[in-house]
Amino acid sequence: MPKPNESPRKRPNTFRRPPRETEAEKTERILANWKPKTKLGEEVRKGTVKNIDEILDSGKKILESEIVDKLLKVRSDLISIGQSKGKFGGGKRRAWRQTQRKTKEGNVPTFSTMAVVGDEKGHVGIGTGQSKETLPARDKAVRKAKLNIFKINRACAAFDCSCSELHSIPFKITGKSGSVKLTLIPAPQGTGLVVANELKKVLKLAGIKDVYSQSFGKKRTTFNLIKACIDALQKTNVGDKKWKQIGNFHSSKLNRSVNLNDSSNKN
Ligand SMILES: [Zn+2]
Repeated sequence: MPKPNESPRKRPNTFRRPPRETEAEKTERILANWKPKTKLGEEVRKGTVKNIDEILDSGKKILESEIVDKLLKVRSDLISIGQSKGKFGGGKRRAWRQTQRKTKEGNVPTFSTMAVVGDEKGHVGIGTGQSKETLPARDKAVRKAKLNIFKINRACAAFDCSCSELHSIPFKITGKSGSVKLTLIPAPQGTGLVVANELKKVLKLAGIKDVYSQSFGKKRTTFNLIKACIDALQKTNVGDKKWKQIGNFHSSKLNRSVNLNDSSNKN
């Protein structure tokens, strides 16, 4: 008989699961056990290379994801490239694309997914991973996304915005993948991301806050839509000479808007 003041459902206090490790703790643990295999990794570990832009500008290839972990504070997200199967029609968007191989023994499922990583300050990358289980597929995708990281140029180029913050893109750009064509257009502050929901994940991690967009082709293929977006973002990397010209144009734009304001005050 249980005592009246004690709940009969109470379990004996034997084992408590330790709190789950956070993403920051995980990267810390990985970096502590990291044994670099490449020359670049060795340099990063020692601290000779302190900035990721040095690596990206020199055109060296990153072959260890820990390099990115060490130099940048990246966050990752999964893109819904698959859909659920089964009852109630299925077709709900899901991060895992599930495919099957038919064998004599039965069906062998495979899961693939697409990850995006970024530091919200002008560095992004995407990668895909495939495995027999979902979680290894995610780990592979995140690792590949880190290896594919690249730099983008941000600026304020909206004609009706006169700030000098890096909240949008420097000019109108079009990216393409398969039949999907995506145009990103600079927008003034406070607009937000006027794009498809999956694209918001990419642009947010890239550090772009305001943008308009236009898309053509079979944009239901999320895979191609994301790749078109990455293609467009890569095109913001114009040469130094051109970038200077764009900078001059932007400053002249700012002067003009100031002048316009002055004349309106006189009237
Ligand atoms: Zn602005």
